[in-house]
Amino acid sequence: MALSGLDIYKLLPKTNCKKCGFQTCLAFAMQLAKKAVSLDKCPDVGAEVRALLEEASQPAIRLVEVGAGDRRFAVGQETVLFRHEEKFHHPTAIGLIVEDDVPASGLAHVLKGIHALEFERVGQKIGVQAIALHNKSGEKGRFLEQLKAVRAASSLPLILMTSSAATLKEALAVAGPERPLAYCHRVTDLASYISVCREFGVPLAFRASSLEEFSGATRQAVQSGFADLVLDIPEGRAADRLWQLTQMRRLAVKKGERSLGFPTMVIVDTAVESEAVCQAAAYISKYANILLLRTVKPEHILPLLTFRQNIYTDPQKPLQVEPNIYPIGDVSKDSPVLITTNFSLTYYTVLGEIESSRVPSYLICMNTEGMSVLTAWAAEKFGAEQIADTLVKFKLADVVSHTNLIIPGYVAMMSGDLEDKSGWRVLVGPREASGLPAYLKNL
Ligand code: SF4
Repeated sequence: MALSGLDIYKLLPKTNCKKCGFQTCLAFAMQLAKKAVSLDKCPDVGAEVRALLEEASQPAIRLVEVGAGDRRFAVGQETVLFRHEEKFHHPTAIGLIVEDDVPASGLAHVLKGIHALEFERVGQKIGVQAIALHNKSGEKGRFLEQLKAVRAASSLPLILMTSSAATLKEALAVAGPERPLAYCHRVTDLASYISVCREFGVPLAFRASSLEEFSGATRQAVQSGFADLVLDIPEGRAADRLWQLTQMRRLAVKKGERSLGFPTMVIVDTAVESEAVCQAAAYISKYANILLLRTVKPEHILPLLTFRQNIYTDPQKPLQVEPNIYPIGDVSKDSPVLITTNFSLTYYTVLGEIESSRVPSYLICMNTEGMSVLTAWAAEKFGAEQIADTLVKFKLADVVSHTNLIIPGYVAMMSGDLEDKSGWRVLVGPREASGLPAYLKNL
């Protein structure tokens, strides 16, 4: 659990010798608590205190990395229960379960479906992050064969789910340096799975039946020197699983319970697809770090990816677009000019509507520090004066041969003032971006 500046101060030598570059031990302690300096700056801290402070500075939830290369993902290292307290650091990794007993044509179809699950939203690429290959057949040969086929067709990180540690060992040899996440169904098999994972340097997810069982198993694993673990919440009612996820996060973050401070995984195996999506959304909220699903339907996955993107956005830093003049389509000097704010959601909504109008246009993306139109206007960051300055700064007069500027309908009240301050003729556009196609076509 993170220590406060005062907690740290109590452990320092309190001699105010200034060797660390600070006037007092207290000033150094405050900076240390903010992680703005390194403990190494104080040469007089004893080994015992150093070990204690280093342990306390570790994140409450360990970081686990899965995969290799560009597609690898990390989960864990979370520090808070609620995103407004700071932010959530590593988005829930969404993976899709592939059974090894499907015929080759079926496998190719499923993999094609998985690869289609990549989307672009508010300027970010979003998609699923893993394929979980399940040894449903129970046959080693079948599992290895399908693993080779998946590897040949996909670069997504793998999760290898087999009930046999011997099969896992051979599968890891096939996977090579790809650092898949191994999976152990029974806590009683954990020692043999850890032995295999240690040999190949890969992380391991395992299932236990209760918080106590998870806690006991992770303590033993850590004592044996293996801590690259993910905790798979057992099957059960969604409410029970959410309770377990919440207790784990709470105990790790608030109570400093290291034995539960590992990323979590949830397998959503509900037959009714709509119910599975609802459950998955709840697990993304609280507090699944890896989520495995069976559906590959875009109408199921896209809402989950969108929801995840919103939950894992830093609440103190709105998604922003680089301020600039953006040409949309085959523009000319006569093309209309619209202005909006640099809040990503606003910008990309306006952009999408202009594109669908098929009227080549310029879109000025103005720096409003990521605020939407009305918020920015109320905060005096999207007023007549600021817009007039932006037109000069971006040299709009050199870009087009006319002097018409289309502003959002919500800020129509500034049009007269803006005309006076900018010298441009102000046209009031629709209030909602959805009205832009008709508006632009009828200009
Ligand atoms: S070097 Fe250590 S003992 Fe000296 S002032 Fe800094 S924190 Fe205190």
